[in-house]
Amino acid sequence: MLASMVRQLPRRIPLAELHCHLGGAVTPAVMWGIAHSQGIKLPTKDYWQFRDMITASPRRGHSFDGYLQLFHWTELIQSSPLAVERSVYEVVGGAYRKNNVTTMELRFNPMKRNRGGEQDLDHIIAAALRGMDRATLEYPIRPGLIFCLDRAFPYDLNEIIAEKAISWRDRGVVGIDIAGPESVTFRAAEYRNLFRRARGFGLGITVHVGEAGPVEEVGQVIELLEPDRIGHGVKAAYDHRTMGMLRERGIVLEICPTSNLQTEVVSGWEEFRWIFDQFRRNEVRFAISTDGPEMLKTYIRDELATLGRLGILSYEEQLQAAQTSLQASFVPKVTDVAAAVRKPATRVEVEREEA
Ligand SMILES: [Zn+2]
Repeated sequence: MLASMVRQLPRRIPLAELHCHLGGAVTPAVMWGIAHSQGIKLPTKDYWQFRDMITASPRRGHSFDGYLQLFHWTELIQSSPLAVERSVYEVVGGAYRKNNVTTMELRFNPMKRNRGGEQDLDHIIAAALRGMDRATLEYPIRPGLIFCLDRAFPYDLNEIIAEKAISWRDRGVVGIDIAGPESVTFRAAEYRNLFRRARGFGLGITVHVGEAGPVEEVGQVIELLEPDRIGHGVKAAYDHRTMGMLRERGIVLEICPTSNLQTEVVSGWEEFRWIFDQFRRNEVRFAISTDGPEMLKTYIRDELATLGRLGILSYEEQLQAAQTSLQASFVPKVTDVAAAVRKPATRVEVEREEA
Protein backbone atom coordinates (compact mmCIF):
# COMPACT_ATOMS: atom_id res chain seq x y z
CA MET A 1 0.00 0.00 0.00
CA LEU A 2 2.66 2.45 1.06
CA ALA A 3 4.90 1.43 -1.85
CA SER A 4 2.17 2.17 -4.39
CA MET A 5 1.61 5.56 -2.77
CA VAL A 6 5.17 6.72 -3.33
CA ARG A 7 5.53 5.32 -6.84
CA GLN A 8 6.03 8.15 -9.30
CA LEU A 9 4.51 8.32 -12.75
CA PRO A 10 7.18 7.08 -15.16
CA ARG A 11 8.50 9.63 -17.61
CA ARG A 12 7.29 7.59 -20.58
CA ILE A 13 3.67 8.40 -19.66
CA PRO A 14 2.90 11.58 -21.59
CA LEU A 15 1.23 14.56 -19.98
CA ALA A 16 -0.94 17.43 -21.08
CA GLU A 17 -0.43 20.87 -19.58
CA LEU A 18 -3.83 22.54 -19.52
CA HIS A 19 -3.22 25.59 -17.36
CA CYS A 20 -0.04 27.51 -18.04
CA HIS A 21 0.34 31.27 -18.45
CA LEU A 22 2.94 32.45 -20.94
CA GLY A 23 3.96 35.20 -18.49
CA GLY A 24 4.95 32.59 -15.90
CA ALA A 25 6.38 29.94 -18.17
CA VAL A 26 9.60 31.26 -19.72
CA THR A 27 12.89 30.41 -18.03
CA PRO A 28 14.36 33.54 -16.35
CA ALA A 29 17.60 33.24 -18.35
CA VAL A 30 15.63 33.35 -21.61
CA MET A 31 13.56 36.29 -20.35
CA TRP A 32 16.80 38.08 -19.48
CA GLY A 33 18.08 37.52 -23.01
CA ILE A 34 14.83 38.67 -24.61
CA ALA A 35 14.78 41.83 -22.46
CA HIS A 36 18.33 42.70 -23.50
CA SER A 37 17.87 41.91 -27.17
CA GLN A 38 15.03 44.46 -27.20
CA GLY A 39 16.94 47.05 -25.22
CA ILE A 40 14.39 47.14 -22.40
CA LYS A 41 15.57 49.18 -19.45
CA LEU A 42 15.30 46.88 -16.46
CA PRO A 43 15.36 48.14 -12.87
CA THR A 44 18.46 46.04 -12.19
CA LYS A 45 21.61 45.07 -14.05
CA ASP A 46 22.09 42.00 -11.87
CA TYR A 47 20.72 38.74 -13.28
CA TRP A 48 19.98 37.21 -9.88
CA GLN A 49 18.00 40.24 -8.76
CA PHE A 50 16.09 40.04 -12.02
CA ARG A 51 15.40 36.36 -11.38
CA ASP A 52 13.97 37.26 -7.96
CA MET A 53 11.78 39.90 -9.62
CA ILE A 54 10.00 37.41 -11.84
CA THR A 55 9.85 34.27 -9.69
CA ALA A 56 8.03 33.37 -6.50
CA SER A 57 10.21 32.95 -3.43
CA PRO A 58 9.74 32.69 0.34
CA ARG A 59 11.43 36.08 0.72
CA ARG A 60 8.74 37.72 -1.36
CA GLY A 61 5.98 36.25 0.80
CA HIS A 62 2.70 34.77 -0.30
CA SER A 63 -0.34 36.59 -1.57
CA PHE A 64 -2.71 36.63 -4.52
CA ASP A 65 -1.96 40.23 -5.55
CA GLY A 66 1.76 39.71 -4.96
CA TYR A 67 1.67 36.79 -7.36
CA LEU A 68 -0.10 38.81 -10.03
CA GLN A 69 2.53 41.54 -9.64
CA LEU A 70 5.20 39.08 -10.77
CA PHE A 71 3.66 39.31 -14.23
CA HIS A 72 4.42 43.02 -14.55
CA TRP A 73 7.92 42.53 -15.95
CA THR A 74 7.32 39.28 -17.82
CA GLU A 75 4.36 40.75 -19.71
CA LEU A 76 6.30 43.90 -20.55
CA ILE A 77 9.32 41.94 -21.80
CA GLN A 78 7.05 39.71 -23.88
CA SER A 79 5.33 42.69 -25.51
CA SER A 80 6.53 42.45 -29.10
CA PRO A 81 6.11 39.94 -31.92
CA LEU A 82 9.72 38.73 -31.67
CA ALA A 83 9.52 38.33 -27.91
CA VAL A 84 6.22 36.46 -28.09
CA GLU A 85 7.48 34.11 -30.80
CA ARG A 86 10.63 33.23 -28.89
CA SER A 87 8.71 32.85 -25.61
CA VAL A 88 6.13 30.46 -27.05
CA TYR A 89 8.78 28.49 -28.90
CA GLU A 90 10.87 28.08 -25.73
CA VAL A 91 7.92 27.12 -23.52
CA VAL A 92 6.46 24.49 -25.86
CA GLY A 93 9.81 22.81 -26.57
CA GLY A 94 10.84 23.08 -22.93
CA ALA A 95 7.67 21.37 -21.73
CA TYR A 96 8.47 18.37 -23.89
CA ARG A 97 12.14 18.22 -22.88
CA LYS A 98 11.57 18.72 -19.19
CA ASN A 99 8.40 16.77 -18.53
CA ASN A 100 7.52 14.76 -21.65
CA VAL A 101 4.49 17.01 -22.08
CA THR A 102 3.01 16.08 -25.47
CA THR A 103 -0.04 18.35 -25.40
CA MET A 104 0.65 21.91 -24.38
CA GLU A 105 -1.99 24.54 -23.92
CA LEU A 106 -0.49 27.94 -23.37
CA ARG A 107 -2.59 30.90 -22.36
CA PHE A 108 -2.00 34.62 -22.47
CA ASN A 109 -3.78 37.91 -22.97
CA PRO A 110 -2.65 39.29 -26.35
CA MET A 111 -3.78 42.75 -25.28
CA LYS A 112 -1.25 42.68 -22.46
CA ARG A 113 1.48 42.06 -25.04
CA ASN A 114 0.89 44.98 -27.42
CA ARG A 115 2.14 47.86 -25.26
CA GLY A 116 -1.29 49.36 -24.75
CA GLY A 117 -2.23 49.26 -28.42
CA GLU A 118 1.10 50.47 -29.74
CA GLN A 119 1.65 47.14 -31.48
CA ASP A 120 -0.79 45.38 -33.75
CA LEU A 121 -2.70 42.57 -32.06
CA ASP A 122 -2.68 40.31 -35.12
CA HIS A 123 1.11 40.57 -35.33
CA ILE A 124 1.38 39.45 -31.70
CA ILE A 125 -1.00 36.54 -32.32
CA ALA A 126 0.71 35.47 -35.54
CA ALA A 127 4.06 35.56 -33.74
CA ALA A 128 2.74 33.25 -31.02
CA LEU A 129 1.54 30.80 -33.67
CA ARG A 130 4.93 30.93 -35.41
CA GLY A 131 6.57 30.04 -32.11
CA MET A 132 4.23 27.06 -31.81
CA ASP A 133 4.93 25.97 -35.38
CA ARG A 134 8.67 26.10 -34.83
CA ALA A 135 8.41 23.98 -31.69
CA THR A 136 6.25 21.36 -33.44
CA LEU A 137 8.89 21.00 -36.16
CA GLU A 138 11.38 20.05 -33.49
CA TYR A 139 9.39 17.99 -30.98
CA PRO A 140 6.43 15.56 -30.99
CA ILE A 141 4.15 17.93 -29.16
CA ARG A 142 0.70 19.30 -29.92
CA PRO A 143 0.35 22.89 -28.77
CA GLY A 144 -2.65 25.18 -28.62
CA LEU A 145 -3.24 28.75 -27.50
CA ILE A 146 -5.89 29.99 -25.11
CA PHE A 147 -6.63 33.72 -25.05
CA CYS A 148 -7.27 35.17 -21.61
CA LEU A 149 -9.88 37.85 -21.22
CA ASP A 150 -9.36 39.93 -18.08
CA ARG A 151 -11.77 40.53 -15.21
CA ALA A 152 -10.43 44.06 -14.82
CA PHE A 153 -10.89 44.92 -18.54
CA PRO A 154 -14.08 46.59 -19.75
CA TYR A 155 -16.38 44.36 -21.81
CA ASP A 156 -15.44 46.04 -25.09
CA LEU A 157 -11.78 45.07 -24.83
CA ASN A 158 -12.60 41.53 -23.76
CA GLU A 159 -14.94 41.20 -26.71
CA ILE A 160 -12.09 42.08 -29.07
CA ILE A 161 -9.91 39.35 -27.52
CA ALA A 162 -12.69 36.76 -27.90
CA GLU A 163 -13.29 37.81 -31.52
CA LYS A 164 -9.56 37.45 -32.22
CA ALA A 165 -9.69 33.92 -30.80
CA ILE A 166 -12.56 33.14 -33.16
CA SER A 167 -10.74 34.64 -36.14
CA TRP A 168 -7.55 32.69 -35.49
CA ARG A 169 -9.21 29.42 -34.42
CA ASP A 170 -8.14 27.47 -37.48
CA ARG A 171 -4.52 28.39 -36.91
CA GLY A 172 -4.08 27.00 -33.41
CA VAL A 173 -6.13 29.11 -31.01
CA VAL A 174 -8.16 26.49 -29.15
CA GLY A 175 -10.01 28.31 -26.40
CA ILE A 176 -10.78 31.36 -24.30
CA ASP A 177 -10.45 32.03 -20.59
CA ILE A 178 -11.14 34.82 -18.12
CA ALA A 179 -8.22 35.66 -15.83
CA GLY A 180 -6.93 38.66 -13.91
CA PRO A 181 -7.57 40.11 -10.45
CA GLU A 182 -10.91 40.03 -8.67
CA SER A 183 -12.90 43.01 -9.91
CA VAL A 184 -16.06 44.63 -8.60
CA THR A 185 -17.05 45.67 -12.11
CA PHE A 186 -16.93 42.15 -13.58
CA ARG A 187 -20.28 40.51 -14.31
CA ALA A 188 -20.28 36.99 -15.72
CA ALA A 189 -23.80 37.55 -17.09
CA GLU A 190 -22.49 40.17 -19.52
CA TYR A 191 -20.36 37.51 -21.21
CA ARG A 192 -23.04 34.91 -21.76
CA ASN A 193 -23.68 35.62 -25.45
CA LEU A 194 -20.02 36.17 -26.26
CA PHE A 195 -19.03 32.81 -24.75
CA ARG A 196 -21.91 31.07 -26.48
CA ARG A 197 -20.72 32.53 -29.76
CA ALA A 198 -17.12 31.39 -29.12
CA ARG A 199 -18.34 27.89 -28.29
CA GLY A 200 -20.37 27.86 -31.50
CA PHE A 201 -17.11 28.28 -33.38
CA GLY A 202 -15.65 25.27 -31.63
CA LEU A 203 -13.51 27.06 -29.07
CA GLY A 204 -13.04 25.46 -25.67
CA ILE A 205 -14.18 27.45 -22.65
CA THR A 206 -12.28 27.64 -19.38
CA VAL A 207 -12.65 30.29 -16.69
CA HIS A 208 -10.54 31.20 -13.65
CA VAL A 209 -13.01 30.96 -10.78
CA GLY A 210 -13.20 29.53 -7.26
CA GLU A 211 -9.64 30.64 -6.69
CA ALA A 212 -9.38 33.94 -4.78
CA GLY A 213 -13.07 34.80 -5.26
CA PRO A 214 -16.12 33.42 -3.45
CA VAL A 215 -17.48 29.92 -4.04
CA GLU A 216 -20.84 31.32 -5.21
CA GLU A 217 -19.15 32.62 -8.33
CA VAL A 218 -18.32 29.08 -9.45
CA GLY A 219 -22.00 28.16 -9.77
CA GLN A 220 -22.76 31.44 -11.55
CA VAL A 221 -19.99 30.88 -14.08
CA ILE A 222 -21.12 27.30 -14.69
CA GLU A 223 -24.70 28.39 -15.37
CA LEU A 224 -23.94 31.53 -17.37
CA LEU A 225 -20.80 30.65 -19.31
CA GLU A 226 -21.06 26.84 -19.50
CA PRO A 227 -17.32 26.17 -19.29
CA ASP A 228 -15.79 22.85 -20.30
CA ARG A 229 -13.15 23.34 -17.64
CA ILE A 230 -12.49 25.63 -14.70
CA GLY A 231 -9.16 27.19 -13.78
CA HIS A 232 -8.50 26.22 -10.14
CA GLY A 233 -12.04 25.97 -8.70
CA VAL A 234 -10.64 24.67 -5.39
CA LYS A 235 -13.25 26.64 -3.45
CA ALA A 236 -15.94 24.45 -5.00
CA ALA A 237 -14.86 21.69 -2.62
CA TYR A 238 -16.60 23.65 0.15
CA ASP A 239 -20.01 23.63 -1.48
CA HIS A 240 -21.97 20.46 -2.01
CA ARG A 241 -24.27 21.94 -4.65
CA THR A 242 -21.35 23.25 -6.72
CA MET A 243 -19.66 19.84 -6.52
CA GLY A 244 -22.88 18.34 -7.89
CA MET A 245 -22.94 20.78 -10.80
CA LEU A 246 -19.33 19.97 -11.69
CA ARG A 247 -20.00 16.24 -11.59
CA GLU A 248 -23.23 16.36 -13.60
CA ARG A 249 -21.70 18.46 -16.34
CA GLY A 250 -18.40 16.59 -16.38
CA ILE A 251 -16.47 19.84 -15.94
CA VAL A 252 -12.75 19.31 -15.41
CA LEU A 253 -10.95 21.37 -12.78
CA GLU A 254 -7.45 22.53 -13.62
CA ILE A 255 -5.78 22.20 -10.23
CA CYS A 256 -2.45 23.96 -9.69
CA PRO A 257 -1.42 23.09 -6.11
CA THR A 258 1.82 25.06 -5.76
CA SER A 259 0.17 28.15 -7.24
CA ASN A 260 -2.68 27.95 -4.72
CA LEU A 261 -0.18 27.65 -1.88
CA GLN A 262 1.83 30.59 -3.20
CA THR A 263 -1.27 32.79 -3.40
CA GLU A 264 -2.54 31.44 -0.07
CA VAL A 265 -5.82 30.48 -1.67
CA VAL A 266 -5.19 27.10 0.00
CA SER A 267 -3.50 27.12 3.43
CA GLY A 268 -1.35 24.02 3.06
CA TRP A 269 -1.05 20.44 1.84
CA GLU A 270 -3.39 19.22 4.58
CA GLU A 271 -6.13 21.42 3.19
CA PHE A 272 -5.37 19.96 -0.23
CA ARG A 273 -5.74 16.49 1.24
CA TRP A 274 -9.25 17.46 2.30
CA ILE A 275 -10.03 19.18 -1.03
CA PHE A 276 -8.98 16.16 -3.11
CA ASP A 277 -10.98 13.95 -0.78
CA GLN A 278 -14.06 16.02 -1.61
CA PHE A 279 -13.34 15.66 -5.33
CA ARG A 280 -12.99 11.90 -4.84
CA ARG A 281 -16.25 11.56 -2.88
CA ASN A 282 -18.16 13.75 -5.34
CA GLU A 283 -16.59 12.20 -8.44
CA VAL A 284 -15.36 15.54 -9.70
CA ARG A 285 -12.82 15.28 -12.51
CA PHE A 286 -9.53 17.15 -12.27
CA ALA A 287 -6.21 17.59 -14.03
CA ILE A 288 -2.98 18.74 -12.44
CA SER A 289 -1.27 21.80 -13.93
CA THR A 290 1.37 24.34 -12.96
CA ASP A 291 -0.14 27.79 -13.69
CA GLY A 292 3.41 29.03 -14.43
CA PRO A 293 6.22 26.49 -14.11
CA GLU A 294 9.18 28.88 -14.17
CA MET A 295 7.63 31.61 -12.07
CA LEU A 296 6.56 29.04 -9.46
CA LYS A 297 9.58 26.77 -9.98
CA THR A 298 7.55 23.61 -10.36
CA TYR A 299 6.64 21.24 -13.20
CA ILE A 300 3.60 18.98 -13.49
CA ARG A 301 5.65 15.94 -12.54
CA ASP A 302 6.82 17.76 -9.39
CA GLU A 303 3.21 18.50 -8.51
CA LEU A 304 2.14 14.89 -9.06
CA ALA A 305 5.16 13.56 -7.18
CA THR A 306 4.44 15.73 -4.16
CA LEU A 307 0.77 14.72 -4.11
CA GLY A 308 1.90 11.09 -4.32
CA ARG A 309 4.63 11.40 -1.70
CA LEU A 310 2.22 12.98 0.78
CA GLY A 311 -0.32 10.26 0.11
CA ILE A 312 -2.87 12.79 -1.14
CA LEU A 313 -3.25 11.04 -4.52
CA SER A 314 -2.58 7.34 -5.07
CA TYR A 315 -0.51 6.19 -8.04
CA GLU A 316 -3.72 5.25 -9.86
CA GLU A 317 -5.18 8.67 -9.18
CA GLN A 318 -2.06 10.37 -10.55
CA LEU A 319 -2.41 8.22 -13.66
CA GLN A 320 -6.07 9.16 -13.89
CA ALA A 321 -5.21 12.87 -13.58
CA ALA A 322 -2.70 12.51 -16.43
CA GLN A 323 -5.33 10.79 -18.59
CA THR A 324 -7.97 13.35 -17.70
CA SER A 325 -5.63 16.14 -18.81
CA LEU A 326 -5.20 14.51 -22.23
CA GLN A 327 -8.93 13.83 -22.58
CA ALA A 328 -9.95 17.34 -21.52
CA SER A 329 -7.52 19.17 -23.78
CA PHE A 330 -8.93 21.64 -26.30
CA VAL A 331 -6.19 20.78 -28.78
CA PRO A 332 -7.98 19.08 -31.69
CA LYS A 333 -7.86 15.34 -32.23
CA VAL A 334 -5.88 14.72 -29.13
CA THR A 335 -8.60 12.50 -27.75
CA ASP A 336 -8.81 10.53 -31.01
CA VAL A 337 -5.19 9.48 -30.92
CA ALA A 338 -4.12 6.88 -28.41
CA ALA A 339 -1.21 8.51 -26.65
CA ALA A 340 0.92 5.36 -26.79
CA VAL A 341 0.68 5.11 -30.58
CA ARG A 342 2.80 8.20 -31.07
CA LYS A 343 5.52 6.93 -28.76
CA PRO A 344 6.68 10.42 -27.88
CA ALA A 345 9.62 9.48 -25.68
CA THR A 346 11.46 6.23 -25.13
CA ARG A 347 13.97 7.79 -22.79
CA VAL A 348 12.98 7.05 -19.24
CA GLU A 349 15.50 9.29 -17.53
CA VAL A 350 17.53 12.32 -18.46
CA GLU A 351 20.98 12.91 -17.03
CA ARG A 352 20.20 16.45 -16.06
CA GLU A 353 17.49 18.95 -16.61
CA GLU A 354 17.58 20.46 -20.07
CA ALA A 355 17.00 24.18 -20.33
ZN1 LIG B 1 -4.07 30.78 -13.99
